[in-house]
Amino acid sequence: MLIVMKPAASSEEIQAVVERVESVGARSHVVQGEEVVIIGAIGDREHVMRLGLDASPGVDKVVPILKPYKLASTEVRQGARSVLEIGGAKIGGGHFALIAGPCTVETRDQTLQTAQVVKDAGATLLRGGAYKPRTSPYSFQGLGEAGLRILAEAKERTGMPIVTELMDVRDIEAVLEVADVVQIGARNMQNYTLLTEVGRSGCPVMIKRGLSSTLEELLMAAEYVLKEGNENVMLCERGIRTFETAYRFTLDITAIPVLKELSHLPVIVDPSHAAGRRDLVEPLSLAAVAAGADGIMVEVHPDPDEAICDGPQALLSDDFAAFAAKVEQVAQIAGKRMGAVV
Ligand code: PEP
Ligand code: MN
Repeated sequence: MLIVMKPAASSEEIQAVVERVESVGARSHVVQGEEVVIIGAIGDREHVMRLGLDASPGVDKVVPILKPYKLASTEVRQGARSVLEIGGAKIGGGHFALIAGPCTVETRDQTLQTAQVVKDAGATLLRGGAYKPRTSPYSFQGLGEAGLRILAEAKERTGMPIVTELMDVRDIEAVLEVADVVQIGARNMQNYTLLTEVGRSGCPVMIKRGLSSTLEELLMAAEYVLKEGNENVMLCERGIRTFETAYRFTLDITAIPVLKELSHLPVIVDPSHAAGRRDLVEPLSLAAVAAGADGIMVEVHPDPDEAICDGPQALLSDDFAAFAAKVEQVAQIAGKRMGAVV
């Protein structure tokens, strides 16, 4: 349920509603909108209804949220967009993020070099995996903590906030020391204990859509994080499995405007993992930005032929500046500002 307060509602009236909601065992999330305060009451609908809150002082109306995801829904913000602030860069609601970097932290040189190239070309966040979800248990699994230390150095040198994947809740402390955004990978989208822990951490989270997940399932994953009081959530479309075999995954462009209709959360698009091919990364990126994406995340490597992981889809470091300029152009046409470069 949503309890929409009147513009003139006092803080005592808001507090009284919160206490009444919680008196029946429901949880309350107070959202400060531009004009009014909205209180999301999460719990047994019947119990909250019986409180008769629409007659309480300061309350304008009580509106049910019919969707299974509540805190992720557009309704809870009454149409306002979430804007995340990450190390000085804003994402969402008109602010655009270009996230770039290696698939995998392989070596110190490769990571520091790539970080500098993407920073110089205007990327706002640096991506890079220290813990890698690999299809084969015999493939390189990432440098782990040593990789995190390299990312920390890249952050120190360039000032760029770091996006890195957390695969296992046992690594959460180490990852949180370095990550400005914790990435939940496609294969872990429905790892609910992981989502809950990341929710409790309060650290910004980017949740990648599962290979065969519906948008509702993605939004329910976001709900797990939001329910823990962590409002810093981004969604990421990264391609889904379809009958098509000509490329790695099918980038679901339609998901972008639909997610933005269903949810206030920023939508990032990862064309690298969708395409699996370098030549497709630029057209898909431009299409995604034109369709309203709040950010693009791409893989970059100085020498993709030598990359341990995902070389065929990595943009060449030398080509990145031209790519970034095109993305920025389309973002501007789409009415977005590039987030501040730190
Ligand atoms: C990644 O971004 O490093 C990654 C492994 O992507 P996904 O989880 O979408 O496959
Ligand atoms: Mn990759």
